Amino acid sequence: MTSEERLHNGRCLCGAVTYVVTGDPVIVAHCHCEDCQRLTGSGHSTGAMFSEANLKLDGPVAEYELTSDNGNQVTRVFCPSCGSPILGKNTGMPGFVTLTLGTMTDSGDLQPGVVVFTRNRRPWDIMDETIPSFEAQPVFNPGDA
Ligand SMILES: [Zn+2]
Ligand SMILES: [Zn+2]
Repeated sequence: MTSEERLHNGRCLCGAVTYVVTGDPVIVAHCHCEDCQRLTGSGHSTGAMFSEANLKLDGPVAEYELTSDNGNQVTRVFCPSCGSPILGKNTGMPGFVTLTLGTMTDSGDLQPGVVVFTRNRRPWDIMDETIPSFEAQPVFNPGDA
């Protein structure tokens, strides 16, 4: 099976929002930034970045926009009924979406490649030390991956 045929399904908690994404993620990351902590209500978010063209999203979604620390516009897309965070978009990485891995039904084959914003990590949120970790957001160009 080639990577083009690879397919992952996902849905929100109530099931009103569903998605199918094809291909392999550009990267899978754990993020400890404060925005992700508040968004998820947990110690970090785990997201898989895919090309937006590979995503088919179904159902009514709500959006929340904010400006990140480095000045990029971030759009958080979530289910208006149950509140599940589905994905994030960032003007710093146009054409890509970061899906929340917890909403993905069959994510067992995806490997986190990086941990970011470790400076915001809470003491109770223990992370695998073998994953490359960064104090903040390293410079990352999806085109180089
Ligand atoms: Zn929902
Ligand atoms: Zn974050």
